[in-house]
Amino acid sequence: MPELPEVENFKRYLNATSLHQRIISVDVRDAYVLKSVTARELARRLKGRRFESSCRHGKHLFARADGDLWLRLHFGMTGSLRYFKGRGKAPNHARVLFVFANTHCLAFEDQRKFGEVGLVKDVDEFLKKRALGPDALDLSLSLFRQIFEKHRGAVKAILLNQKLIAGIGNIYADEILFRARLHPAIEISRVGDKALTKLFRATHYILRKAIAAKADVNQMPKSWLLPHRGKDGKCPRCGRKLSSARIGGRTAWFCAHCQKKM
Ligand SMILES: [Zn+2]
Repeated sequence: MPELPEVENFKRYLNATSLHQRIISVDVRDAYVLKSVTARELARRLKGRRFESSCRHGKHLFARADGDLWLRLHFGMTGSLRYFKGRGKAPNHARVLFVFANTHCLAFEDQRKFGEVGLVKDVDEFLKKRALGPDALDLSLSLFRQIFEKHRGAVKAILLNQKLIAGIGNIYADEILFRARLHPAIEISRVGDKALTKLFRATHYILRKAIAAKADVNQMPKSWLLPHRGKDGKCPRCGRKLSSARIGGRTAWFCAHCQKKM
């Protein structure tokens, strides 16, 4: 499931492949992923324009077309981008194709179709309407503290709540907690100031490092949880068997020995 590091890499990919080229058509192959826009309107409004820049907030990617119109992409569970030459070579699960004048296309692919493609006039307005929290990488330590001081519940549930902090999903929340040596179910009220600072640092460290590893598990350090999570996985720190539990509606993987409830 694409989280902040994956979406940041999609942003870089879009910037490296698809900017400043005239869009000659938009081919919607499955309108299910369209949100608040019809296939006809999407094509009509983007045709003849170029994507000039992009920005990311949490798990959302926005590409600005000249004329101040933003394409909004959310990658759901299986969404990704693919740039290729020749419309006939579109990947199997391409839902929307942006066809450029140079005969290359950018495909929004999404096997399971939980992704979203839409148009927005103003990114800030959209973020406000969705009530999304600040991007996880834009957070300062003091804002991070404020968020945790104001809320109750399991620490992992706070990390996952997009309305409080945008961008972290199940995989990276587990990784951040593993690095900070905090049990995912620990109550926020029991996390002291020092541990909270550690959690903040772990959040930045893990997300930045994952972006640099191109969000590719094979490029991530073996000392991380990610290469080991799952049944029969062993803690890379102490060698004990990893545990799993349902926390905040998602399956958490953690080491019950290294990650204390305090
Ligand atoms: Zn351990």
